[in-house]
Amino acid sequence: MTSPLALLGGKPAVTTGGPHFTWPPIDDTTRAKVAAQLEEAISIPGRSGIVAELEDSLQGYFGVRHAVTTSSGTAALHATYWAARIKPGDEVIVPAWTFHATASPLFHLRAVPVLCETRPDGNIDPDRIDELITPRTRAVMVTHLWGKPADMADIQAVANTHDLAVLEDGSHAHGASIAGQKIGTFGLASAFSLNGPKPLSGGEGGFVLTDDDDIYHRVITLAHYNKRAKSEIPEGHPLARYAVTGAGLKLRIHPLAAAIAHDQLARLDGYLAGRAEIARYLTGALARVPGLEVTAMPEGVIPSWYGLTLTYRPDELAGLPIERFHQALIAEGATDFDRPGSTCPMNQLPLYQQPGPLFPGHPHSQRRYQPGDFPVAERAHAHTIKLPVWHREQDLELAEQYVRAAIKISDHHKEL
Ligand SMILES: *Cc1c(COP(=O)(O)O)cnc(C)c1O
Repeated sequence: MTSPLALLGGKPAVTTGGPHFTWPPIDDTTRAKVAAQLEEAISIPGRSGIVAELEDSLQGYFGVRHAVTTSSGTAALHATYWAARIKPGDEVIVPAWTFHATASPLFHLRAVPVLCETRPDGNIDPDRIDELITPRTRAVMVTHLWGKPADMADIQAVANTHDLAVLEDGSHAHGASIAGQKIGTFGLASAFSLNGPKPLSGGEGGFVLTDDDDIYHRVITLAHYNKRAKSEIPEGHPLARYAVTGAGLKLRIHPLAAAIAHDQLARLDGYLAGRAEIARYLTGALARVPGLEVTAMPEGVIPSWYGLTLTYRPDELAGLPIERFHQALIAEGATDFDRPGSTCPMNQLPLYQQPGPLFPGHPHSQRRYQPGDFPVAERAHAHTIKLPVWHREQDLELAEQYVRAAIKISDHHKEL
């Protein structure tokens, strides 16, 4: 008798053809808006047109005084650090596990990313921040990994005790909240990506949020020299005389990307509500599958469901290696079950092990990281299987097929 497992010649559990998940959703409204923008302007040097409309909408959505768009999330992070006056030799505490761009712009400021152990969910562990603080520590940067908000109350408490700025990378977590307060509004400033797969997407782009006028003027100085700096930095401000050159960089969003992001922002809450429904089903069903553990959401925490993460438990499946389990899922046609790749503990990346060759003379380039430095984050990363979360009711059937694939492999794990 042959096995029902697709990997061993059986019939796949997922019968719907791929691709199963595409993002962002583009429809005729999006197309019409982009076409109209193409006619209106494809270069916007000041704060006008679609750029102003997008920033106004972001301010309204997040309830903040300032939103500044940028060419990417990486650029938004770069501008945020510079705006927060991170100087050469300063240290910024960052989660060990995040997409590297959360921290990598610090190298360009000759500042030092100090990696902090995470909790098993991948978010920075507030109890491990204290031990990393030195007289050079200036700020804590927080990622809300896969859209699950980090423990902001405890993070703010440590930061306040040591007079550190709190900064957020909201790139996975547009619209997520804790007790009704939106991610991106907890610290001095926050940076978000608008890149392809992110919960809010313009294809490419990013933005900075802040309530602080000084941060705002400094973001403009770093990211929007000349026209915009001239019109928005008030006369008499110490940065006003630098308006023509700013700090030498131009990190502007493309108007077509702004048009897409503006269209998507109006639908974001609908996407989030739809994802929450499908996530509720997936979490409930997958929690009952031996070999998989779902991630708990504390009371009052609303995630963006950028990714639904599962912790693989080989001990429940007679030690079956995760690689084999994952391979079997793919064979079942559940091809969007994914193991995180580049979003990994950063001590595994050459830039964090040996920045010297790329940044000669970088301060603390002796602070090299190596595999094994962050056992909690590394163990969690090695055992993570994640899924994108669909947002449309009609995708529930596909979600059910994915669950059937997982159950089938779990049931028949002895055959693998
Ligand atoms: C995507 C991402 C970034 C970088 O954003 P880009 O728009 O791709 O430059 C930064 N941080 C996190 C957590 C991200 O996921």
